[in-house]
Amino acid sequence: MRIAELGGEFALIKRLTCESQDPAVIRGVGDDCAVVQYTQEKYLLITVDMMVEEDHFSLSWHTPFQIGRKLMESNVSDILAMGGSPRWAFLSLSLKTDTTVEFMEELYCGLYDSASRHEVSLIGGDTTHGSVMTLSLTVIGEVEKSLLRLRSYAVPGDFICVTGTLGKSEAGLRVLKRGFRNGYVQGHLVPHCRTREEARAIALNAHAMIDVSDGLGSEVRHICEESGTGARIDWERIPISHDTLQAAELLHEEPQEYALYGGEDFELVFSIPPENIPKLKEKFSDFSVVGEILPKSEGLYLLKGGNMVAVKGGYDHFVS
Ligand code: ADP
Ligand code: MG
Repeated sequence: MRIAELGGEFALIKRLTCESQDPAVIRGVGDDCAVVQYTQEKYLLITVDMMVEEDHFSLSWHTPFQIGRKLMESNVSDILAMGGSPRWAFLSLSLKTDTTVEFMEELYCGLYDSASRHEVSLIGGDTTHGSVMTLSLTVIGEVEKSLLRLRSYAVPGDFICVTGTLGKSEAGLRVLKRGFRNGYVQGHLVPHCRTREEARAIALNAHAMIDVSDGLGSEVRHICEESGTGARIDWERIPISHDTLQAAELLHEEPQEYALYGGEDFELVFSIPPENIPKLKEKFSDFSVVGEILPKSEGLYLLKGGNMVAVKGGYDHFVS
């Protein structure tokens, strides 16, 4: 059977894995990080993300510096999505025989640039050879037990919020693929995840949290599945930057589609009791309300121009 027939990457992971019986494991497969016992006050967080040449990055569009940066930002984003702080990293490389030392030096400059922004120490890895360049970064972090925010913590009545703006990465990818020289591409080439201070401010007030790696639709679906709820996403309230809007105009497409079904914006999506919003705004205000968590019986849907519309699947390596 093909993976697409089974339903894609998440269906495959569900089929292949079983729950850990180790009492030290608080959360295994199924969230942005694994969560394990660490100290009296803190849990340890562990996440791994892989980038493959011509899939997650293109050697004709990305500089090696940008590839290294993106790898670190995408992993740190998963630690932040748990309410945590990143600390240590391991980088595993599979390189081609014609990869140059200079290329790798620049890639590591990008990696260290992002690592120093997030106060992460690279403390190991593995190096081997293969037919395409593959990079796998593991990041380990920590979170105060009271600040842990799982995908499963959403409650009906919570507002759904997103930080910053969405659709930037997909907009840039489409501009690059169509070969427009004058379009907006930075959102794809130089994605930024949030900071630990921002994630902490959100965690203090929010219930569930997840980062945007596969699109808003997919992330809200994960929250609903894990929390046993439904949700409404308001199409008109999805925050889109001026640059993304212009790129979408250039391509004659709807930027909200990029936000919902594109990936790799590395913003944070969280569910928050409405009464906590003013408190969060005192510390951090770069977020928008885009919907509401509903009882499971109401399902997951988009409200677009007053009509209920189904939420499609997000980016999936085997289905898209
Ligand atoms: P994210 O996009 O937040 O990095 P993923 O969608 O990659 O998360 O993974 C979702 C969950 O599935 C995570 O808990 C991850 O650790 C787990 N997972 C992914 N691939 C595998 C695998 N091959 N075996 C076991 N667990 C996996
Ligand atoms: Mg994630």
